[in-house]
Amino acid sequence: MAHVEPVSVSPSELTTRLAALREALTPEVRTIRENEPLAPYTTFKIGGAADLFVEAHSADELAAAVVAAREHEVPLFVLGLGANILVGDGGFRGVVIRNRAAHVETDAASGRVWAESGTVVWEPLIRQAVAANLSGLEHYAGIPSSVGGALWQNLHFLSPDRSRTMFIEEVVESADLLMEDGSRETVDHDWFDFGYDFSTLHIRPDVIVLAATFRLAPEAPEVLTSTIESNLEWRGARHPPLATEPSAGSIFKKIDGVGAGRLADWCGLKGTRIGGAMVTHKHANILINTGGATARDVRHLIGYVQETVEREQGYRLSTEIGMIGDFGDLGDVPAHGWENEDGFTDGVPPGGHPEAHADAERR
Ligand SMILES: Cc1cc2nc3c(=O)[nH]c(=O)nc-3n(C[C@H](O)[C@H](O)[C@H](O)COP(=O)(O)OP(=O)(O)OC[C@H]3O[C@@H](n4cnc5c(N)ncnc54)[C@H](O)[C@@H]3O)c2cc1C
Repeated sequence: MAHVEPVSVSPSELTTRLAALREALTPEVRTIRENEPLAPYTTFKIGGAADLFVEAHSADELAAAVVAAREHEVPLFVLGLGANILVGDGGFRGVVIRNRAAHVETDAASGRVWAESGTVVWEPLIRQAVAANLSGLEHYAGIPSSVGGALWQNLHFLSPDRSRTMFIEEVVESADLLMEDGSRETVDHDWFDFGYDFSTLHIRPDVIVLAATFRLAPEAPEVLTSTIESNLEWRGARHPPLATEPSAGSIFKKIDGVGAGRLADWCGLKGTRIGGAMVTHKHANILINTGGATARDVRHLIGYVQETVEREQGYRLSTEIGMIGDFGDLGDVPAHGWENEDGFTDGVPPGGHPEAHADAERR
């Protein structure tokens, strides 16, 4: 997480530090608000308020805000598009810095695209690359992400012929980083040690990405457009639309050769709901906010899916989204109180695909 773990500080001391930080930041950043609800800044549309909320409109503003928060010893969280996180109902004690630094420079001759880390990948960044007839980013059309979030998680999607998974690391040449001591460093691709849903950023919460340079290849515009259209169509057919069914994309990490969604589907979990959170009928690895879902609802539904899949299929699913802020006392995952749309309201859901049960080796 690009954040500082909450230091043990009394509420009154935190209030004093936040007031001092607010004063220090006022000349540096244009947008600064207190007790700002975070739900609107996430794709799940869930989560309580941040004590202090700042928007950074350039890499310099982002760096200034992070450095000031550290100087004042205020816990901080750097927010991109909020597409891979669940914010707790109790909100975030400290400062949330929403990264909107979005300056992009394209050099068609060398194929290099330099983008500040708050640049939104789809559509602005991809459109800019396509306008310069450059290939490498179009594969991620339709995925909500900032450049910083994309490097954090190593954004990925299927290749145009669907034969393999493509990763954004394939086009990352270098990145400009803000280090813990406030210095800036430009590092190359290898620094990130990219893996599936992984980069060094996961284990270096002290490092913030300010900008990235992508190295793209020349391509005919019709090829780029065709990839974009086919990927949007693919997503539209398989994923719930964000505009009407808010989500954080896939909740559980992939399990090689099986797939978290397939395991949950085999357990008959599509349509299962707790409060306002539901496993969508479109994809059993995606939980949606049907309206008014709380973070507590989502955590309980996650727990329910994990327990059911483990009991029925022998796999323990782990979450891939980040849990941010204060979730309060979640209590025990309820044995009752959930139902799916077919009215199944208690006990073990129908499921356990025969093929899955036959495959004993995976246990
Ligand atoms: C509908 C939907 C579909 C999705 N489909 C896919 C998909 O096909 N493939 C895929 O890979 N993902 C997918 N995702 C997940 C999500 O899009 C990616 O994980 C994305 O990269 C998140 O970017 P973000 O800007 O929203 O990051 P956020 O959710 O805002 O932040 C995620 C983490 O990155 C850190 N971070 C953000 N910016 C910086 C920075 N500048 N420096 C350091 N750390 C930073 C944050 O602190 C946080 O820890 C999907 C999500 C949704 C909602």
